[in-house]
Amino acid sequence: MAQVLVVEDDPEIRRALIHSLTERGHAVTSAPTGMAGLGAAVNEGCDLVILDLGLPDIDGLELLRMLRAVSQVPVIVVTARGDENSVVKALEAGADDFVPKPFASASLDARIKAVLRRTSSEGETDQTLTIADLVIDPAGRQVSLAGEELDLSAREFDLLHYLASNQGRVISKRELTIEVWRQPYGGTDKTVDVHLSWLRRKLGETAAEPRFLRSVRNVGIKLVNPNE
Ligand code: CA
Repeated sequence: MAQVLVVEDDPEIRRALIHSLTERGHAVTSAPTGMAGLGAAVNEGCDLVILDLGLPDIDGLELLRMLRAVSQVPVIVVTARGDENSVVKALEAGADDFVPKPFASASLDARIKAVLRRTSSEGETDQTLTIADLVIDPAGRQVSLAGEELDLSAREFDLLHYLASNQGRVISKRELTIEVWRQPYGGTDKTVDVHLSWLRRKLGETAAEPRFLRSVRNVGIKLVNPNE
């Protein structure tokens, strides 16, 4: 259960959100304007903010920037479908994820859980990760395999670090494009595939004979400990 703050001016959508989130076990507070939402987020605190970008008193993106100046609370942005430009801007302004309107409450709940899972493990991101003979040092941005340092590009490092931080969890290519590439749209599945194949080669493995990187057909990829 999470304490969720809904910032949404449309009373019908607000009511529906409160209803479905409460039904799924979250504690919900709400604000009908941007400034009321900012005040509630800062003064009352919450675990997560659901932020409508189209607000009457202040642009949702502007609100997000103001909130980010004072708080790292996870934010899921709600956008009108097809408004890809604002999604990109929202992610750049520090949103953790987005949902297009209209949304199903089950998928919103899944996003909430995923964002909370990611953000609650972020405190560990500077810790060295050791998985079998693979050692990832985020502070020094270095990776070694069986004692040999690997020469990874910045993107390959970020990709490997993200997968290793979520060891054992199947991660979709869409999540990788958002989390590693920060691009929610576009034909980036191929980009992910290409970088995964480069990373595989540097880890000395292939898709046919994987060690760390296991593809899960039609779902995504997970990083596993090959000794387990
Ligand atoms: Ca609105």
